[in-house]
Amino acid sequence: MKKRYPRPQFTQGTVNRFGQSRIGDGLQVLNSNARILQPGEFTPQRQKMSQHFNQDNLGLNSERLRTMMVERLQREGIDDKRVLDAMQRVPRHHFVDEGLASHAYENAALPIGFQQTISQPWIVARMIALICEKHIPHKVLEIGAGCGYQAAVLAQLVPQVYAIERIHGLYEMAVHNIQHAPHTERIHLHYGDGLEGLPQYAPFPAILVAAAGMDLPKSLLQQLSIGGRLVAPLGQDNQYLVLIERTGTDSWTRKSLEPVRFVPLRAGIQP
Ligand code: SAH
Repeated sequence: MKKRYPRPQFTQGTVNRFGQSRIGDGLQVLNSNARILQPGEFTPQRQKMSQHFNQDNLGLNSERLRTMMVERLQREGIDDKRVLDAMQRVPRHHFVDEGLASHAYENAALPIGFQQTISQPWIVARMIALICEKHIPHKVLEIGAGCGYQAAVLAQLVPQVYAIERIHGLYEMAVHNIQHAPHTERIHLHYGDGLEGLPQYAPFPAILVAAAGMDLPKSLLQQLSIGGRLVAPLGQDNQYLVLIERTGTDSWTRKSLEPVRFVPLRAGIQP
């Protein structure tokens, strides 16, 4: 029998377990860790996905649902085959509460407890495609591991994945969840404040930040290798996904990409 991990109750700032929850700072689960769509852009296919979901036959169905998710990501502009393959390999339904598993392959953020969310699949794929665009980095640092999903997808491509989470309960959840994906041995999870990075393992040729701040500390930017890429949501009310490249010892370039909405990047740890 598989050991069951006690999931947190979704009582901390959430109204119910099924997505209509409030997570503070004007954020709703369904609009966090996600791309902000312009009118007329693609629309979610909630009904279509849910109708293929069968709780009793999850193993077989989830493969098919993942294929549908990947096909949709492709239609929505993710064209890196390596990233799409990685998204196909990781069973996202193992990273969310059982009550939400039937929504795991929709293009939506979902609550994971502690007022945090698992990022929308499109965002996960987009951020990973950006750091792998020129070549696949041999090492990556993820700040804000949450339930461990993005780290698991990264591990399908990148040989060494370092991920930090500041909320202890989520760190423990990630440690448990990543066992459901291939290449767990590539993931090194840490409990701590990601704003400090992991200087002992730096420099990193790639850094992903999964929560939004107004800016990033210079000490973190200095943990990026020269020639390396960092992708982060930046801003408060109006957030953008930003691509930062380190061009020299003391020089970085910045490029703003699409508007997004992420949970806040916070300093310190939460035991
Ligand atoms: N990567 C996740 C998304 C998690 S949501 C996924 O796979 O879907 C963002 C996470 O960032 C939250 O769990 C939050 O607790 C965490 N976070 C925010 N500030 C942080 C910090 N300074 N250090 C580490 N984690 C942080």
